[in-house]
Amino acid sequence: MINSKVVLEYKSVLGECPVWDSAGQRIFWVDVFKNEIHQFYINKQIHRIITIDQKPGSIALTNTGKLIAALQNGFGLINPDNGDIKMVNDTEAAISGNRFNDGKCDPKGRFWAGSMSLTGKRGMGNLYSLGQNGKASLEISGVSVSNGMAWSLDHKIFYYIDTPTGQVVAYDYDNISGSISNKREVITIPKQEGVPDGMTIDTEGMLWIALWGGGRVSRWNPIEGKVICSIPLPVTKVTSCVFGGDDLCDLYITTAKVGLTEHELKEQPLAGALFVIKNSGFKGVKAYEFQEN
Ligand code: CA
Repeated sequence: MINSKVVLEYKSVLGECPVWDSAGQRIFWVDVFKNEIHQFYINKQIHRIITIDQKPGSIALTNTGKLIAALQNGFGLINPDNGDIKMVNDTEAAISGNRFNDGKCDPKGRFWAGSMSLTGKRGMGNLYSLGQNGKASLEISGVSVSNGMAWSLDHKIFYYIDTPTGQVVAYDYDNISGSISNKREVITIPKQEGVPDGMTIDTEGMLWIALWGGGRVSRWNPIEGKVICSIPLPVTKVTSCVFGGDDLCDLYITTAKVGLTEHELKEQPLAGALFVIKNSGFKGVKAYEFQEN
């Protein structure tokens, strides 16, 4: 039996995008609807919150100690000490109905992030990759709720989740150029288990998928399309996960309380908490960093 525990007494409205920073021994995450970036130093037990002037969809580490973030309309570099933002690319400034959502760096240090409609309109989102030169390339268009991403251990496959499809798709990925091709479906989540949200990969190449509405994270073999194990959490809205800790063996899991009724909140008093499965028995891959210069 694998047990989860709460990391700290704090509940996000929409906790998302956990990022482990080995050098700082801290876990970052965002609360999208509160315009907040959180950082919790595991050893010192210090919790810091930075409030910014727009919704942070996702963040990733950079090679300069800043964070690269997907924000309301585009990409920005954020100083995690004071919250200062320097916009890099106003990618979707002309699309007023969208906001950016989940994002992650590829093995080459480009930051990929996708957008979604603020009103839930299908097919309005796009997935982009941001290069060191500050240019954003459109990778996939017509997505609905752009979410989890992962790259295979040999850097040849890109895994991607557009949540309402209920699937993980794979593309051939060229690490030099960053281009993707040859889309195919590799995992289909049964409807009764929720919809796939955030995702991470372990050292055996298996995918860990947070199930929104499903109250669990589950581990999948993307080659066979089969679930290997499933870990229940005491909350329904499970948003994302990442391995952290000294040896990358602890699984950190973000959750949300947005949209829960009063009754559901009573039943799920931990909704929105950050959870951890210490010594999970599995090991993650160190987060790739955005190469700023
Ligand atoms: Ca998400």
